[in-house]
Amino acid sequence: MSAWISKIRNRLTLWYVGIFGLILFGFVCVASALHYLHLQDQLYHAEIQDMETVEGLLYFEPDGRLSLRQDYFIREEHRLLLDRLLEVLSMDGNVLFRNSKLGNDSLGGARTASEGSADFFRHSLRLASGTHVLVLSHIRPVEGRTVLIRVGYSTEPIRKQSIQLFGLLILVMPFALLAAGFAGSKVANKALDPLSQMAQLTQHITAHRLNERIPVSNADDELGHMALVLNDLLERLEKSFQQLRDFTSDVSHELRTPLASIRSIGEVGAQADYEAKKYRDIIGSMLEEVSRLTGMIDTLLTIAHAESGVLALNRSEFSVNELVQEAVSIVRVLAEDKGQAILLSVKDEVDLSADRPFMRMALVNLIDNAVKYSPEKSEIRILVEIVQASAVGDSSMVRISVADQGPGIPEDARERVFNRFYRLDESRNSEVQGVGLGLAITNWAVEAHGGIVSVSSPANGGSLFSMVLPVTPVNMIANT
Ligand code: ADP
Repeated sequence: MSAWISKIRNRLTLWYVGIFGLILFGFVCVASALHYLHLQDQLYHAEIQDMETVEGLLYFEPDGRLSLRQDYFIREEHRLLLDRLLEVLSMDGNVLFRNSKLGNDSLGGARTASEGSADFFRHSLRLASGTHVLVLSHIRPVEGRTVLIRVGYSTEPIRKQSIQLFGLLILVMPFALLAAGFAGSKVANKALDPLSQMAQLTQHITAHRLNERIPVSNADDELGHMALVLNDLLERLEKSFQQLRDFTSDVSHELRTPLASIRSIGEVGAQADYEAKKYRDIIGSMLEEVSRLTGMIDTLLTIAHAESGVLALNRSEFSVNELVQEAVSIVRVLAEDKGQAILLSVKDEVDLSADRPFMRMALVNLIDNAVKYSPEKSEIRILVEIVQASAVGDSSMVRISVADQGPGIPEDARERVFNRFYRLDESRNSEVQGVGLGLAITNWAVEAHGGIVSVSSPANGGSLFSMVLPVTPVNMIANT
């Protein structure tokens, strides 16, 4: 039973039948009550007619007794004669007449105040025998004497009729509920079938079949929307899995080279007897490769932490100008080695709320690349300025751009340079040390701060890397 109830379609059907049953029961009660009131109304109107007939038939006998002419009715078993309860009182409360059907019972005892008007007065009462009666009272003169006439009829027959109707409708209810249950389960099945199909399809999707999608029959309904959301989730999962596979294969590939190099250097060292200096050189080369490996693993760890969301940004407020100067001072020695000049121009003084070490690393990567890939004695220009970014609302953005006089980056590679392990034209880079992770880190750090990093190649050659970061207006100090 509990397994049956646990299915949504069965619960829906039960709810549907339950609510329908309640409404139906309410309807049956109201219909029976209305039927009773309608019959009572009809009885009331019949009583008015009867009252008028009775009023015309009342007369005083010569001895002063009040009587009712019976010869008006053709048959003695006339219904009015049989069922009518009749009582006539004098205005001082004496009973002048009671018909045989009423016997010694009374249709309300002494006259009440509301019975005093000349209009018909309607009221219900219960006789000593327990019978419910609808009584009509009227004050009127009979042969010059004012009397109170009360005509009553038992409401038992109409009560019985209404109860019969109620019983009949209640008897029909189970059949109506059965039909409702059947229809309800059909509707629930029809509505939930696509969900079962979706569940079946999704069950077959594994890590190796993430390219499969759930068919969307109607994108506008709730189930279609759910299919779209699931498909979207599958797409993101597929992308993540692909990235993970790429990452693993890239890492293995990148680790293999320095390891192979360490191995071959070691093998050379092991093959012959060398003098101590030669061994020191061999160990020195091996250590160089090891430190390259360590650097790469550190960078990979930073990327892995950043992408898994473990790295939290530790924001503080600092001057962009100072940050750029700090980054330049880190790279300056390398630039001086190549006789390059780093020219810094701060157009706007800006305070930024960001994670300072990450932003410094992002910037150092850009300037370091400019130094690495530009020829000797060239110039590297760094510019800090405020830009209005209409696309990002009214807030201002700070742009830090690094321009060099190097070989530039071809248009088709401008997006890919920010991918992990992407190195442009290995032969061109063969002289320059690097593993293709610097720009990936810069891209992550800038995006984590809500900014964008991009590259272009100006008409006069070289590369122009720009990072654009949002600045809160209060942190901004205009300086022209
Ligand atoms: P790495 O410098 O370690 O190779 P990066 O991620 O920093 O890795 O850069 C990726 C690639 O983009 C580099 O290998 C290089 O080919 C290209 N690149 C980056 N910066 C510049 C630049 N300023 N000028 C020319 N090429 C660049």
